[in-house]
Amino acid sequence: MAETRKGFLIDTSRCIGCRSCQVACKQWNKTDADKTANQGTFENPRDLTPNLYNRIKFVEKADDKGQVSWKFFNERCMHCGDAGCMKVCPSPGALYRTKDGIVAYNKEKCISCKYCVSACPFNVPRYGADDKVAKCNLCVDRVAGGMSPACAKACPTQSLNFGNRAELIAKAKAAKKTLYGENSLMGTGVVYALEGKPEEYGLPYNPSIPPAIFLWKDVIKPLGIFGFWGSIGAMLIHYVSVGPKKLEETAEDRGGDRHE
Ligand code: SF4
Ligand code: SF4
Ligand code: SF4
Repeated sequence: MAETRKGFLIDTSRCIGCRSCQVACKQWNKTDADKTANQGTFENPRDLTPNLYNRIKFVEKADDKGQVSWKFFNERCMHCGDAGCMKVCPSPGALYRTKDGIVAYNKEKCISCKYCVSACPFNVPRYGADDKVAKCNLCVDRVAGGMSPACAKACPTQSLNFGNRAELIAKAKAAKKTLYGENSLMGTGVVYALEGKPEEYGLPYNPSIPPAIFLWKDVIKPLGIFGFWGSIGAMLIHYVSVGPKKLEETAEDRGGDRHE
């Protein structure tokens, strides 16, 4: 997959905070507007929602003279190579990987268990009024048709670069960019070229899937399956060796004649 894997290289130094990416995503995916309130910042909305699959986070800093400066950060699903959401999902096909490496989803198969929320190291999946998973699916329909994702097409500064993941990374390295996500979680599909430390942007320094997920996926779930098939096997062996359960004990079973 490494050769065919597609992804984003997001260069934060080129982002001007215009939010064309937010709008383009909403238009393409036909998602509703979210009602928001002014909270004393230009950042709006202040979090991902079931109707907002990417957003621009404003990283604000004020200097000694009260002069405010911003860094802009495009927040979205990272399309992890080792995806916690897929690992924990109990409904086959609800979250799945395409041949391009995209972590896509099928709402019809989502059973609303919300396990993927706790398994995501980046706090991405959201649930809406329909109680189904919602997140960036990397415009799986557009990509399958040979087009670039709507947000990348709308970005006027080439902050959002979509294409062959390995080629994008090689280009960014040649430009001496500091990368985030190249090797984490078997490589994230969305790799950032950051202007500061990951923590400044609210990114985990060393992202990992919560250990409890491994316990569920690799220990408890297999044990449960083993227990289930083990019981079926034991019943079959009992049936073949002992025979079917008799409804009433006969006198013969009790080892003697019956006198009335
Ligand atoms: S960022 Fe979260 S939702 Fe996206 S692929 Fe990774 S684990 Fe899944
Ligand atoms: S890739 Fe598509 S679904 Fe994902 S944020 Fe961009 S426009 Fe939205
Ligand atoms: S469209 Fe490009 S420049 Fe504008 S906010 Fe989005 S990433 Fe930044």
